[in-house]
Parts: sequence; structure tokens; C-alpha cells
Amino acid sequence: MFEYRDGILYCEDVPVPEIARKYGTPVYVYSRREIERRISKLKSVFGDVPHLIAYSLKANNNPILLKIIKDAGLGADTVSVGEVKLALDLGFEPEKIVFAGVGKRRYELEFAIEKGIKSINVESYEELLLIDEIAKALSRPVAVALRVNPDVAPKTIDKIATAKKTSKFGIDMETARHIFSNFKSGYVQIRGLHVHIGSQIFEYEPYIEAVEKVAPLVNGKLEFFDVGGGFGVDYEGDGREFDFEGFKKYVVPRILELADEVVTEPGRFIIAKSSILVTEVLYRKPHFIIVDAGMNDFSRPAYYGARHRIVNVTLKGRKKEAVGVGGPVCESTDVFGKDFELEIPDRGELLAIMDTGAYGMSMASNYNARPRPAEVLCEGKSYRLIRHREPLEDVLWRGVQE
Ligand SMILES: *Cc1c(COP(=O)(O)O)cnc(C)c1O
Repeated sequence: MFEYRDGILYCEDVPVPEIARKYGTPVYVYSRREIERRISKLKSVFGDVPHLIAYSLKANNNPILLKIIKDAGLGADTVSVGEVKLALDLGFEPEKIVFAGVGKRRYELEFAIEKGIKSINVESYEELLLIDEIAKALSRPVAVALRVNPDVAPKTIDKIATAKKTSKFGIDMETARHIFSNFKSGYVQIRGLHVHIGSQIFEYEPYIEAVEKVAPLVNGKLEFFDVGGGFGVDYEGDGREFDFEGFKKYVVPRILELADEVVTEPGRFIIAKSSILVTEVLYRKPHFIIVDAGMNDFSRPAYYGARHRIVNVTLKGRKKEAVGVGGPVCESTDVFGKDFELEIPDRGELLAIMDTGAYGMSMASNYNARPRPAEVLCEGKSYRLIRHREPLEDVLWRGVQE
């Protein structure tokens, strides 16, 4: 959905420079078509298998984008009361909302229980006891799933693997076994199992491994089995894809032996490739280009050492050279990478950081007193602002008490 026409980068049918001129930089530019294409792809994997695709809000929670996702029939995977509330405000049905997180507070659980969401994914025995206590006090039945840590390590970067034994996520196998055989409650019903093994995964095997690890916990059939998110995307731009064929052939049927419904929680897969971050070149130095987007706007390279391609928004047939690109933040990690093959741009020219839709704007901060960027959505030939640039006054003074 991002392609060059006559040397100019387009988002759908909109020339990117036009958006930058109108709304300034840095600006996140999204393609609606790409989001919809990704959702169709996922739906086609499941066909008529009973399933719920619960989009992981933490990847990107712009309400306008969420509405597109909701209207496509997806559910919501949430990790805080704020995300649960946002999903409900936008009209996601409670029966399509799941709520995970290792540190849910009492009021967050109360809120979720009162709204009757599909599942609270419980991450510790103590959380389960607290849910039971709240359910009794409110005299309300509560549907939960146990998030179990299956102790598998998918081939991904260490910082985003979540299901190794030493990770803080989920309930360990032994405790889970204990809960399944001993936990009795008049209110809390354990309807499902949940595993989430990490992110940016391309093989189906780690999913099978995780399912097999926890399968012995199941006696009788579960209502649903939530196999988490993590489907990888090709940040290298080489067209590499998650092995959905293998997933469909081996993982889905195995899950259906254990549960009536397959739940997945993709975030990145749906939204990552729908967006670029457009930034203006401020200064050139030997080997380095300084742009107006920084790690506060887009932090994946700084946080995770992630590599995102960077391209010229306007190609003029100049010779390409390997250069580094960095932002204005006073921090040595505020560098998007080195050795980008770019036509050396003039000051004021635009560059695009690719595939910034997931964990981009949702992780943006005000570090260095910098306002968070604007967001624009392209729909065919038209485009619109879906979040204005944060006013500087808000950054400086919001919430301040004398
Ligand atoms: C982050 C997260 C996801 C989404 O992961 P992606 O890699 O973006 O698909 C799904 N489930 C849980 C519990 C998560 O924490």
C-alpha cells in the first residue's frame, strides 16, 4: 500500500509529501486497505472453524483504527482497565473482549467483572483468589482462563519472548495443575487456557510446542483455547510470512481437540505494515542524517534494537550511499540505525521509516518535552487526520498542580 509513482512515495493513492505539507512532521501515515487486507488474510486462515480474533490493543490503540478493526468483526485483547474501557466505548462486544496482564488491580478486575467480558486471563494464583473474592462480593459469575507459562522459547529476540520459565508472565505448570485439580468456586468458572509465547514468530512449531506442553492440564473440553499473538511480519521487506498453512494444518486441529473455540490475539500482524513514520531531514553530517523524528516518537529501534527500513520519500535518481539516521533526542540510543542505502537528501526533504504501525504511536512518549506526532489515515484517494499533534502546552503543563 506504500509504493513509488514517478519517484514519489504514495500511501494508497495519496502522495506522502502532500500529507507532510498539510500536517507537518513527524507524522504517522496509515493505510486502511492494508489493515483490511491483513484482517481478511487472518479470517481466511480460520474459515468456518469457531474462532475469535482478538486484536491486541497495545500494538496500536488509535480509536479510529480500532473502529475499522471492530467493524471487521474482530474482538479485543486488552491489558489494562483503560484498554477494556476503550474497547467497550468503541462498541466491541463484551463477549469479544479478553483481559490479560500480570498486575491487574482490584478496581480493574471489578470493572471487567461488572462488564461481563469474555475472559479475564489470570496470571497468578493470587490473582485467581482475588477474582473469586470480588465475584463473591458482587454475586456475579466470572469467566476466566488460566494464562499458563509453557516454558518454551521461540526463536525471537530475547526482549520479546514471554514464555520462558524465568519470564514474569503466566502461571507455572505446577501451580496450574494444582488449580485445575483443587480450585473450587461458586462464582469463578475456568473456561479456557491461554498461552502467549512471544512476538515476531514465523514458524508454527513453537505454537504446537506450547499447546502440547499445556494439553495435559485439560480434562474434559474447554470452551476456548487462547493461543496468544505473535505472528511475525517482514520488517526486512523480503516478503517473509508467518507459516499460516502449518498453523492451520497442525495447530488449529490440535486446539480443537482440547477446546470448542480457537482464540488468537494478533497485534503486530494486523497493524505493523499499515503505517510509515514520515520525518523531515534537519541536518546532514558525514555518515549521519539527523531527522525530526526521535525515539520518543518511535522507540522500537532504541528499546529492542529493532531494524526498520528507511527510504527516501522522493527519489531523484541520485547515487545511493550508506548513512546512519538519528533523531534529535539527547540520548545515544536515539538512532534508527546505520547503513541505510539512501539518496543523500537535502535539508527539508522527507524520509519514511517503514512498518511503524505496531508499537509505534502506542509507545510514543514525551521524553525531552516533545509532543507526540500526528496520525493520518489514507483511504484510497482521500486522507484525514485521525489524531492531531499533541499541543506543546499539554506536554508542558497537563496535570500540573501548584
Ligand atoms: C503483546 C501481546 C499480544 C500481541 O502480540 P503481537 O506480537 O503484537 O501479535 C497478544 N497477547 C498478549 C497477551 C500480549 O501481551
